[in-house]
Amino acid sequence: MNQVSQKSTNKINLLGLTRQQMEDFFESLGEKRFRAHQIMKWVHFFGVDDFEAMTNIGKGLRGKLAEVAEIKGPAVELEHFSNDGTRKWVVDLGQGNKVETVFIPDGKRGTLCVSSQVGCALDCSFCSTGKQGFQRDLSVDEIIGQLWIAQRSFGAPENHGIRNITNIVMMGMGEPLLNFENVVTAMEIMKDDLGYGVAKKRLTLSTSGVVPKMYELYDRIDVALAVSLHAPNDELRDQLVPINKKYPLSALMAACRRYVDQFPDTRRVTMEYVLMDGVNDKYEHAEQLVALLQDVPSKINLIPFNPFPSSGYKRPNGMRIKAFQDRLIKAGFVTTIRTTRGDDIDAACGQLVGQVQDRTRRAAQWQAKIAEKAANSQKGKQIPVQQVSVHKQS
Ligand code: SAH
Ligand code: SF4
Repeated sequence: MNQVSQKSTNKINLLGLTRQQMEDFFESLGEKRFRAHQIMKWVHFFGVDDFEAMTNIGKGLRGKLAEVAEIKGPAVELEHFSNDGTRKWVVDLGQGNKVETVFIPDGKRGTLCVSSQVGCALDCSFCSTGKQGFQRDLSVDEIIGQLWIAQRSFGAPENHGIRNITNIVMMGMGEPLLNFENVVTAMEIMKDDLGYGVAKKRLTLSTSGVVPKMYELYDRIDVALAVSLHAPNDELRDQLVPINKKYPLSALMAACRRYVDQFPDTRRVTMEYVLMDGVNDKYEHAEQLVALLQDVPSKINLIPFNPFPSSGYKRPNGMRIKAFQDRLIKAGFVTTIRTTRGDDIDAACGQLVGQVQDRTRRAAQWQAKIAEKAANSQKGKQIPVQQVSVHKQS
């Protein structure tokens, strides 16, 4: 059975069980396997956490379940609802470990951005999660718990006739492929009709390029793939996304081509490209990107950099962003610019850190590095960092 978080009790948390595991669980209790279907509907569809509310389950079984099992979402420390419909939750996983989950409505679509790890070991230079260092992986019930909390905030779906969460992106805190088993198991529950019923093309895993795990992923589950590219050549990508030193662009592009080959239904990889002023947003970068992606069926999502305190980077102005997009469109790439939502609640990409504590020394080291660069520049030396920006966090 997959890893489930050990909370205060030894009860099994049903939030973390796939359909198969739930059926096995009922069999182990001497019950019929179809009970799993009834319970999953209560848990994921109606958001129930009390066995007594499960009216189609007999009293005897309800009592038995209450003894050995629980339905327990992670504690919500903060819940913010933005004026534009964006919702953000700061989830407390105990021992000071916190992650964030964001819901972004867009017409009929509602996208939930889910976290997979507390912090991240990969230390991309422009990412606030990376600056926290890595604390720990989330268990399956902690990943699914984020959906459960979000779904409950809308009330039971039968009140609306539709599910509010239509799309899920594994783009919150952490590198999902480095928490492989738990993320794959959680995505099975997300896809399952008895879970969250999200279609495979509406469930996206985003990776910074952990190449061997990408191949493993394709063999385990069919979901949409996004790759955090951010640079069109190895020299620059080594600086921005350090895992590139281990798995350079040639290996990453081969893994992307394999994805498209393995799922040939007009599949494309979404290439994410955070635009940072003067760093990776020049005309030559757009040209190099066109060449790099020539034989990789892809669409490109440009993300204007979201600042956080002491990041050292700056968002390019609108004209620069548009010029970059135009070059890619001219070359035939579907290229979108991600609009920032939930600004008033700091719910944008890369800002999912809020008041989360820094319990490593990485952020302090980073700030020291920036200060040193600023001091050097005063001595007349050239520095690659554009600007030290300080922005308010909620
Ligand atoms: N670790 C995974 C998924 C989480 S990050 C990955 O890197 O793909 C989700 C997305 O947010 C990535 O594309 C990441 O590069 C982007 N991101 C990180 N910091 C950002 C920032 N400050 N501004 C804009 N996007 C950022
Ligand atoms: Fe980790 Fe993704 Fe942030 Fe890089 S961008 S540090 S991989 S969360």
